[in-house]
Amino acid sequence: MKKVAVITGGASGIGYAIAEKFVKNNIQTMLVGRNKAKLREATCELGKLADWILCDLTQLDEIPGTVQKIIDKFGRIDILVNNAGVHLKKAMTEVTDKEYQDVILTNQTSVFCLTRSVAGFMQEQEGGCILNISSMASIYGLPYVIAYTASKSAIEGMTRAMAVELSPLGIRVNCIAPGFIRTNMSSVALDKDPERKKKVLSRTPLGRLGNPEEVAHAAYFLVSDEASFITGVVLPVDGGNSIGF
Ligand code: NDP
Repeated sequence: MKKVAVITGGASGIGYAIAEKFVKNNIQTMLVGRNKAKLREATCELGKLADWILCDLTQLDEIPGTVQKIIDKFGRIDILVNNAGVHLKKAMTEVTDKEYQDVILTNQTSVFCLTRSVAGFMQEQEGGCILNISSMASIYGLPYVIAYTASKSAIEGMTRAMAVELSPLGIRVNCIAPGFIRTNMSSVALDKDPERKKKVLSRTPLGRLGNPEEVAHAAYFLVSDEASFITGVVLPVDGGNSIGF
């Protein structure tokens, strides 16, 4: 039986690379996003094992219905990748309450809401894998990303909290902390800030940005049966950035 995966933000960047890896490995893959044109284009490129469903994850009350539609279509969800995220780079003293809350809503609260819903079905089917995506911002102090840092730090704590509750039910929960990966999000944060980019590269022992595919390889491993005794970990995929001097 084919496994069924759900990837939020799967139409671009890291999420798309994970979808590509899953499809290549015969996993039925459902992309969740809020941009119909992007989702259509991505599934077209990915081929017949990919499908999409529209859901703006900030609309929390739409999440259970979206999960139910996926279950109605495929009968189960074996893998959930909580990848969707937004970034806000701004001096902390300039960030408004609304901007702060919006980042938390997308990057943190929706992850709780979606995982709660999917985990209910995984519990019934007696198994599943959840993969969260955090960031270097949760490992060391990065200036100008206060809300993003708060959300991604929460993701790592939530990964451990989910793992201890869900693993006894057969549901493994892990997290990848990507370093600086070449995507739209990182180019917005780095391209207009050469000093920051220089600093990133200077403390990355492998001396370059990562490619989304390099995160996808690790994601595939963590949700595969080869990782059957791994739960509750945060795996940096960062070229050594988190331990670099
Ligand atoms: P992208 O901007 O390419 O991807 C983010 C995705 O999230 C988009 O597809 C976006 O869809 C989707 N998304 C955002 N908000 C919502 C929402 N409300 N509802 C549904 N979908 C939404 O960035 P990356 O691929 O770089 O980022 C993927 C993840 O990796 C994020 O969680 C990010 O924080 C994390 N990360 C990235 C790093 C990097 O260097 N690139 C480093 C560390 C972590 P839409 O186009 O519709 O907005």
